[in-house]
Order: sequence, then C-alpha cells, then structure tokens
Amino acid sequence: MELLYEKLPDAKIKCLACKHYCIIPENKTGICHVRANIKGELMLLTHRMVAAKHLDPIEKKPFYHVLPQTLSYSLGTFGCNFRCLFCQNWQLSQIIKEVAKYDAFKASKFIQTYSSPFSPEEVVEKALQLNAKSIAYTYNEPTIWVEGVKEIAVLAKKHGLKNLMVSSGYESEETLNLLEEVDAYNIDLKSFSSEFYINIVGSKLENVLETIESIHKRKKWIEITTLLIPGKNNDEKELEDMASFIAGIDKNIPWHISRFHPDYKMTDVPPTPIKELEKAIRIGEEAGLNYVYIGNVPGHEKENTYCPCCNKIVIERSGYEVKNHLIKGKCPYCSCKLAGIWE
Ligand code: SF4
Repeated sequence: MELLYEKLPDAKIKCLACKHYCIIPENKTGICHVRANIKGELMLLTHRMVAAKHLDPIEKKPFYHVLPQTLSYSLGTFGCNFRCLFCQNWQLSQIIKEVAKYDAFKASKFIQTYSSPFSPEEVVEKALQLNAKSIAYTYNEPTIWVEGVKEIAVLAKKHGLKNLMVSSGYESEETLNLLEEVDAYNIDLKSFSSEFYINIVGSKLENVLETIESIHKRKKWIEITTLLIPGKNNDEKELEDMASFIAGIDKNIPWHISRFHPDYKMTDVPPTPIKELEKAIRIGEEAGLNYVYIGNVPGHEKENTYCPCCNKIVIERSGYEVKNHLIKGKCPYCSCKLAGIWE
C-alpha cells in the first residue's frame, strides 16, 4: 500500500495527504490527530477502523446529479484536518482533538476504543448486499484516511459501485492522483473570505479553490456545498464572488446552498432565514449557474432540478423523496442532456 508521506531528518516525517503538509515529530500526530509519526514512520491510526457507517440516500451527501434515487453505503472515521466552529458532525471530527492533543498514543487508544475494525472486502460486500450503488466517504474528512479510501475504492469499482468523496477540499495533488477510482466529489466551499477560513475553519481559502479547479481539470464530477451562516458568510458581494468563481469553472456544477442550524461552538447564531437562502440562490442563478439548490429545507421548490433548456421540472425532490423523470440523463420534454452521472 502506498502511504502518502516523506521521511525527514531527526526522525520527523512530512505528511502528503492534505494541503497542510504537516511536519510531524516522533510520537505526535498531524493536525488531523489520526496520522502519526511512530519511530520515524507514518502510522495511520484510523486505518481499517470505521467510526460511523450508514446506508443513506445519495441525495443526503448531497449529490443531486449522481444516480438519483439510489442508496449510498456511507463510511466515516474519527478526526478532521479542519476545525470548523460550526461543525455539524463534531462528535466524529473534533472530539479526538480534545482527548489526544497531538499525542499519538492517546489518539490511538481513543480510536481503538470507539471504532470498529473493517476490511475493504466486508465494506464492498455489505454495500452490494444492501443494494447500494455507491460508496460514500463522508461524515468526517476522508482525505485524512486516503489510503483506506483507496483500498475500498479499487474493490468497489471492480464490483460496479461508484466512489464518492464528500470533502472540505483540502486534498493534496498526491491524494487526488492516488484516488483515480473516485467518480465524484462534493466539496464544501465554506465561504469566499480568507479571514473566515483562517479564523473559523483553520485553513486557507486559496487552497480549497485550487483543489476544486484541480478536480474539475481531472474531469471528475463535482458538486459544491455552502452552508450559509447568517452574519458569517452571507454577504452579498462575497456570494457574488463565490458564484462567479464556480460559474467561471463550469456553469453545470451544481451548487447546494444549505440552511445552517446552531451546533458545536456556534450555538449563538440562529438558523439561516429562508429568504437569505433564496437570495443566495438568486445570486447563483444570476451568475449563470444552471443548477442551484436549497439544502435542509424539505419541500422547497428549489430542491427540484429544472431542465436548463425548457425549464420544466425533471427531478422532483422533497427531502429524500425523489422522482426522477430524466430518460438516460435527458429531459423527457425537450431531450436536452443534463450534466451528471446518470447510469
Ligand atoms: S492529513 Fe493530517 S497529518 Fe496529513 S497533512 Fe493533513 S492534517 Fe496533516
């Protein structure tokens, strides 16, 4: 198995999995708390250790233009390379930070106690048994267990399953190169402000933008999600810049604008008003994006997919209730081909 790291002098190592490129001293972990330096070598503390697994509608990831109305066998581990103060999955992603504080042995003990072992064969067999059409690497940041993702993805592909990454977009080029079996990415574009990324998320905006461009250049399917947080990332100008960035790459990239609910360390901010979400959708559409969706507002008309040619509803959604009217990815009314992975 190819491990993404380099050895450095003084028994240090450099992790190559994400754009933090952590230099890790002996017996410590990187920023994600799950990639450790033991005796000058990289040890993957969550390797083949799953912390969450569920059979989910693919729409929950969210992927709206990949095999609609199908199920995705979804896996997550502990740890994260971001520290979003509003994290909605903080029990998986952030707790280990408090427990381990970069100590490799504490982190390992925590993971061994609260995760379950799995093999790639078991995962793929289970996905097929449950009639899933894809495997989603999600819940926490999959980049930090990229070698484990790779193992499963190779096997999944052989059995005709799609591989889906749900990620914050900090993959290194080395990780993107390794993940050739991945079919689609949903990348969180959390804001278009460098300050927001530094202060609220713990990373750099330009690195995420670079990842999005690189994934698109690799001709992988990509959807983008933005959790709209009142007073934090919903400035009109910022949303206009974000929308033109996405449209500048490809007007067929679906943009999901999701409703924020107070969580983790951001419980003092109220849920996003619907009109703010609608404003952001209008901004996306005015930038020329063909598919802008509302998220976490079941029953809203902007959950549907509209044909970009004749504007009729071609996929109806209400929460996870989905009716797909497309015929082999084409509009049943005007035969316009919609962008996505439909078969
Ligand atoms: S994956 Fe973890 S250890 Fe590796 S560079 Fe990213 S944060 Fe650091």
